[in-house]
Amino acid sequence: MHNWAGNITFHDQATLHPRSIEELAEIVQGNDFVRVRGSAHCFNTIADTKYVSVILDHMPDSLTIDESTRTATVGAGLNFAQISEYLHSRGWAIHNLASLPHISIAGAIATGTHGSGISNGALHTCVKSFTLMGPDGLVRTLTRSDDPEFQSALVGLGVVGITISFNLEIVPTFEIVQKVYGEFPHLLFSEKLEEIISSAYSVSYFTIWGDDECGDLWVKSLTSPTDSYMGIAARSAKAHPIFGMDPTACTEQLGVPGPWYLRLPHFRIDATPSAGNELQSEFFVDVKDAPAAFAAIKAISHRFRHKLMVTEIRAIAADDIWLSPAYGRTSIAFHCTWQNDPEVPSLVALIEEALAPFSFRPHFGKLFNVGSEHLNKVLPKFADFMAYAKRIDPQGKFGNDFTQSLLGI
Ligand SMILES: Cc1cc2nc3c(=O)[nH]c(=O)nc-3n(C[C@H](O)[C@H](O)[C@H](O)COP(=O)(O)OP(=O)(O)OC[C@H]3O[C@@H](n4cnc5c(N)ncnc54)[C@H](O)[C@@H]3O)c2cc1C
Repeated sequence: MHNWAGNITFHDQATLHPRSIEELAEIVQGNDFVRVRGSAHCFNTIADTKYVSVILDHMPDSLTIDESTRTATVGAGLNFAQISEYLHSRGWAIHNLASLPHISIAGAIATGTHGSGISNGALHTCVKSFTLMGPDGLVRTLTRSDDPEFQSALVGLGVVGITISFNLEIVPTFEIVQKVYGEFPHLLFSEKLEEIISSAYSVSYFTIWGDDECGDLWVKSLTSPTDSYMGIAARSAKAHPIFGMDPTACTEQLGVPGPWYLRLPHFRIDATPSAGNELQSEFFVDVKDAPAAFAAIKAISHRFRHKLMVTEIRAIAADDIWLSPAYGRTSIAFHCTWQNDPEVPSLVALIEEALAPFSFRPHFGKLFNVGSEHLNKVLPKFADFMAYAKRIDPQGKFGNDFTQSLLGI
């Protein structure tokens, strides 16, 4: 058994798929170590265990909408495609999605997963409350409005409880139109980075740091984007984020309007997202540092681009969730899709070195080399999170080797 990318082999002694809260409680109460896993799309060992793993994909499909409170209650093991189709068919939406809809809701939220949009918080920002099981097998609900514990536990890396369901804020369904502006110069992008990345609902810039010093600007807009932007023409043929790949796997572009959930992800649910055989890393800096961070990465790109498939640059609104990479600062994320190659961790380290002056934060579900010392410096609530997790789970029932080395739990 392995993760989606195939670079991590899981070491489960047993892999269990409980069918009810009672069954889950029996597993939690009857074992010293239990690690919860979602759809296994992380690129590091965060979802591995040497003991019992539980996957919530056989729990009852709970999906309900309360129009009076504009919320939906969703089972934690569902994926974003499942909830999106349900919401849209009833006239509703959530505010944003990641580049792919295949990932479980709980796994995405536990790692601070995000889409793009300078005004769009990461996916966890639409959670109003969530229900989780503690190491004693008891279930409790944490609510945004009145519970400070909510901020600590929401992006929880699987160590503060097993989330069973989320209550999500919903908005009326909406349409998005997507266009890709090709050969968009580095210079123009970096000089006007904040203006460009704020110019539509969701904007991403893709580049391979090639000698042409250009990239593709993906614009997902509530209104029809113009045929050219800042003098750069929209592509007349569909594009894939990885230059040259068959774009059939991508959601509709070319200015054809469609529902939010069929445009905000780059990739369709019925196709393999991205390249498949790949690794990923992603680092977040404050939006004010983004042009300098762009220059710092560009300056060393000749040292890593031989193993790079593509870099994506996108925006995330600030939030107040302790382990969120966008905690307290509107962020620009520098993502890399890499070839699946043993050299990659050392190339990721080069990017970490280049971004060191900008107090970068890593995506917890992707490759990174920095440890707790760095995280303590760049995430103001990191030490508080560690203390909280130790208080909730003093025996470390929910941890694994990854969390042990990062959090001591
Ligand atoms: C092709 C591809 C594209 C991607 N695009 C994006 C993107 O656009 N934006 C982005 O931010 N990330 C992206 N990612 C990364 C992805 O969103 C994260 O890895 C996410 O965590 C995957 O969710 P999962 O369900 O597969 O999690 P898993 O890998 O299964 O688990 C991740 C963590 O979640 C915890 N967890 C799982 N279920 C529960 C639960 N019920 N309760 C508590 N904790 C739980 C696990 O313990 C673990 O710590 C991408 C990954 C891939 C493969």
